[in-house]
Order: sequence, then structure tokens, then C-alpha cells
Amino acid sequence: KVYVCSGNNINSCNISQFFKFIPTQVNPEYTPIGSTCSWEPTNEQSSENEKSFETNRSKLTILSQRILGKGEFGIVCEGILFDHGGFFTNDSTGGGGVGGGGRNGNNSVRVAVKQLHNSSKQIDKQRFMLEARFMSTFDSNFLVKLIGVCTLQEPILVIMEYMENGDLKNYLQKKLQQYRLRQDMGSMPSYEDTVRMAIQIADGMYYLHSKKVIHRDLAARNCMVSHDLTVKIGDFGLTRNTYEKDYYRITDQALLPIRWMSPEVVRTMVFTTHSDVWSYGVVLWEIMTYGEQPYVGKTEMEVKHLLSNYVRLKRPIYYNHLTWEIAKKCWDKNPKNRPNFPSIIDTLLSHIGNNGTQFMNMSFYHQMKAQYQPE
Ligand code: ADP
Repeated sequence: KVYVCSGNNINSCNISQFFKFIPTQVNPEYTPIGSTCSWEPTNEQSSENEKSFETNRSKLTILSQRILGKGEFGIVCEGILFDHGGFFTNDSTGGGGVGGGGRNGNNSVRVAVKQLHNSSKQIDKQRFMLEARFMSTFDSNFLVKLIGVCTLQEPILVIMEYMENGDLKNYLQKKLQQYRLRQDMGSMPSYEDTVRMAIQIADGMYYLHSKKVIHRDLAARNCMVSHDLTVKIGDFGLTRNTYEKDYYRITDQALLPIRWMSPEVVRTMVFTTHSDVWSYGVVLWEIMTYGEQPYVGKTEMEVKHLLSNYVRLKRPIYYNHLTWEIAKKCWDKNPKNRPNFPSIIDTLLSHIGNNGTQFMNMSFYHQMKAQYQPE
């Protein structure tokens, strides 16, 4: 299920309905995820791209016992992709390749496979492919790579880059639990780790915004953590919605991530880059609290009321000054006064000195800077 707005109503629907049901109030300058995208191929290009993006099911082994998580659209399992001619060929680096374990030695890669079994019959395949293909063209080190899809048989499969440490919320909660059990401070993410995570998420968001894509559901549960603790934005499109209690259920079915939504979105249902920045501030808060639920103990109606009175999240007990100051700026009442992602990255980088060098080379931020630097 995805949640969409139309007029004053918020509804949830399946993907095929969603594609017909393009939100009417979304900023027309931007591409709402799940509806038309700025990348609109001709029919001919579209079928060509679909062919090349369609992955041969026989090259995929799904490790059904190794369930990574469950979402509304089905299970996410670990898998191994063989002979994949694209993105990960011969990748035998940690967390990526599964060298030696597959039919073709190193020419295999560990992947995450989402099986869309429940709702697959209702999916408008052509639009689904178009959307998936659009996402697969994204080239950012801080977005989980969409590798391919298998749509010719049921269940439809979505093949993604494997993120060994799962979602960020779960990861942070586990770290806190480990600390509580063993009193081992070493297992906790350090100050620099948290700043690095914040920078990586900001860079992924900067990239999405540059592609005119508004995320609309940025939250720690939708960020994924790799084997080397790189954080990437994972759920930026096709399906979402794992942590039911994080969503505001207006009817039996409609779900909204109200605890991450800005006051103006709650009021008007118009999502913008500025509302994504608000959600990013909430993600910073989630990082500082090791995955606590925002406004914990409050009902959705109470949260709504707080938001309409511009009451902010409380300062976490363990916080760092830099991250907290940025979070507060992201929650400015006036959306236009909120910082944008490049300026957030600027601020964060200026505080981590040389430790930012590695990030710089991998970032979209760096690419953009290099492009616009005077000779
Ligand atoms: P849905 O969008 O259908 O709700 P999600 O994409 O949220 O499903 O996936 C559910 C869970 O599966 C996530 O919370 C995460 O723990 C796990 N997961 C999803 N994608 C990956 C991935 N690429 N690598 C590792 N684990 C993943």
C-alpha cells in the first residue's frame, strides 16, 4: 500500500491504483515518487529498457530461510545473483560478492530480493517497470542500488543491493541494546560515526532532489546500513511501510508517517523538498536517540496537535551540539528558512575535518562542487 493525497483526502491504494491516482497537490516542479517521472522514454525505448532491466530468474537464487525483513508488499530475503552483467559483476568485496560460493565463482553477488507476492497481480507492470527503471538509473553512493526486476512470472521480484546491517532504526536500537547488556561503550556509534551517517543521508537526499524527486517518507527505518557501516537511503519509491506503528492510520488502511511529517504537510498534504528537510531533522533526532520513536507515548492525534502548535521534539539526553543545532534549523516554522541539503553537508563537513575526505570522493556534493568551481 502507498498513501496518496487527492483534494483533502488521504487514501491508501495499491500500486496500480496509485499510478492512475496521481496526487493533485504535489508540487508540479517535482516528480512525485510512484507517479509519472521526468524520465519518460518513448514506447520503443521503454520496451528496450524493460528488456535489459528484466533479470533472468534462473540467474537468481533466493535464500528463503534468510529473511531480512517483511514489508507490506512481501518478504525481503537474501539472494545470490549469478552472471549479472551490470553493476556488480565480479564484485567480491565484503558484503557484495559471494566469491567461490556460486555457480560461477566470483561472478556472483549477494543481493536483497523483495518478493511482491501479495499485491503483484494488481501491479500495473508497465508503469512499475518504468518507475523501477528510472530508479535504477540513479547513481549515488548513498542510495541503495536497484539492480533489476523479474516481472515475467509471479511473484514479481525486486533485486536490490544487499545491505548487511539492515535498516538504520533497527541497527541503532541493536547497538543500544548491546550497550545495555554488556556496558560496552565501544559498540556504540561514536560522535564521528553519527556525523558521517548524517552526511551520507544528506548526500543521498541532495542527489534525489537534484533528480527532482521528493522522498516524502524519509525516516531511519527507510535508511539501510551496509557491511562497512555506510548509510544509504533504501526505500525511495516502489514500496514502503514496515513499521506500522510509525504511521498514522486514518482509516483501516490509510497510513501516514505523521511523526516525520512537517506541520505544513500535516495541514495541506503538499510535500516539498523543504518537508523532506523537516523529516531529515527527525532522522537526526532518531540517530541521537538510538532509534527511539519520535513523540513516544503520544497518540497520533496528540502529535498532530503538537505539530499544529509548532511544538518540537525534545532535545535528546545524549546529543551532540552540532547535530542538534542542524535538527532545530530543519524544523523552522517557515519551510523556506530550513537549510537545504548542500548547506547541511557544508556545516557537517566543516566539523569533521580530515575525516570528511573519504566521504568527499564518494559524494554527489563533491561532484557538484567540482563542476561549479571556477577554474
Ligand atoms: P516494504 O517497502 O515492502 O515495506 P522494506 O523495503 O521496508 O519493505 O523492507 C522491509 C525490511 O527488509 C527492512 O526494514 C529491512 O530490514 C529489510 N531490507 C529491505 N531492503 C533491504 C536491503 N536492500 N538489504 C538488506 N535488508 C533490507
